[in-house]
Amino acid sequence: MSDSSNLVQCPFCKGITATRLVPPEPANKFLLTTYDSKTNNVFATTGFSVDAYGCGSCKKVWLENSALKFVEE
Ligand SMILES: [Zn+2]
Repeated sequence: MSDSSNLVQCPFCKGITATRLVPPEPANKFLLTTYDSKTNNVFATTGFSVDAYGCGSCKKVWLENSALKFVEE
């Protein structure tokens, strides 16, 4: 989170103080997955691949998926 060469503008506080969060291994991706709130069973093999960003000023974290599309029904 401290590499200043990759800073982006935070969509919340507008500061140039945000960056993409880097997974522990370069080939890894973040996964937004689900769990059963009654059993706490985590469905770790299914989910939504996301890039994660965080802001050093307002401390917000947000997720993006470049393949996300709006489909009107
Ligand atoms: Zn911010």
